[in-house]
Amino acid sequence: MSISLKPFNTFGLQQNCLSLINVDTKSDLISTCDKLYKGDFPLLILGGGSNLIFTENYQGSVVKVSTKGIEITSDDTHYYLTVQAGENWHQLVEFCLARKIYGLENMALIPGTVGAAPIQNIGAYGVEFNLFCHQVEFWRLDTEQLITYSNEQCEFDYRESVFKQRLKNLAVITQVTLKLAKHWVPVINYGPLQHFDLATVTARDIFECVCHVRQAKLPDPTMLGNVGSFFKNPVIPVEHYNSLKASFSNLIAYEQADGQFKLAAGWLIDQAGLKGVKVGGAAVHQDQALVLVNLGNANGSDVCQLARKIINAVYDKFSVVLHPEPRVIGSQGEIDIK
Ligand SMILES: Cc1cc2nc3c(=O)[nH]c(=O)nc-3n(C[C@H](O)[C@H](O)[C@H](O)COP(=O)(O)OP(=O)(O)OC[C@H]3O[C@@H](n4cnc5c(N)ncnc54)[C@H](O)[C@@H]3O)c2cc1C
Repeated sequence: MSISLKPFNTFGLQQNCLSLINVDTKSDLISTCDKLYKGDFPLLILGGGSNLIFTENYQGSVVKVSTKGIEITSDDTHYYLTVQAGENWHQLVEFCLARKIYGLENMALIPGTVGAAPIQNIGAYGVEFNLFCHQVEFWRLDTEQLITYSNEQCEFDYRESVFKQRLKNLAVITQVTLKLAKHWVPVINYGPLQHFDLATVTARDIFECVCHVRQAKLPDPTMLGNVGSFFKNPVIPVEHYNSLKASFSNLIAYEQADGQFKLAAGWLIDQAGLKGVKVGGAAVHQDQALVLVNLGNANGSDVCQLARKIINAVYDKFSVVLHPEPRVIGSQGEIDIK
């Protein structure tokens, strides 16, 4: 049997898998993944498909996580929201806002599911998921245990967590518990939010501004297939930053707490002259150099070739290595674009 993955990935890549199973309860999620993990074929967990690039037909089973449910408790200082993995992230942000539970508004309109949010520690407009993560519950496939990790145990970093490292392909995230302060402190130090006044701004003001800017800046995947930012912003040592700054006075860089510098990957790609460049049906977006788009008939090989072209061109000009943000899936599982 062969099932099309095209409706299940926001880049709109036409690849098939052997089987696709939709699960809507936690116990089914665990028992289905458990059974498939012990079987003969590879297993892929799928949320909203907004961070996946399929390069070939996947010779395995895909489990689509559609589990739903949100429970709220609180103590004197915080709300605790325990959210099932298949809940939609943006709908969760709206759910919180409607109940006057604030903090997530800067991360409005990030596509995908709540269960995927810890994996790459999603973030936008000055905040990251780890600021609000209390616990992550997951089924560990190799040891057959339901485990709960604290925030620290998740080893969050910029677009990183233990689920992309030591527990890669071993953890099925079942639910996430968020911890949101009752005393809300707005975060408005990032780009388009800077015009707000700290004394008067509301969470809804931030939510609406973020939604407006994102809709104006980023292509809508239902109109033009994409996975958002295709590359992570590279972090380089101060010596490298100083030598680049001497050659490129308008270099965009942000100093990190450890003294290194984070560069804007979109700026590097733009400066390498790659905006609008195409390979087959894949292209660098005309306005957002960090976003690769599907012009309609892109296949996985087009995307990989384009990504390689960008990695090589940026390296040749700046001696900086770009790393893709989405997970790239070949016929047997995740592969590297080198
Ligand atoms: C237009 C656009 C804008 C975006 N903007 C942002 C942004 O601002 N910030 C940001 O951080 N990201 C952004 N992204 C990327 C994407 O939204 C996030 O990575 C999101 O968390 C992916 O969720 P998903 O459910 O679609 O995951 P999927 O793409 O379905 O899966 C991603 C990875 O997580 C694994 N996975 C998914 N669910 C589970 C689970 N329950 N248990 C175990 N493994 C699982 C999959 O196997 C896969 O490896 C953007 C994407 C798009 C298309």
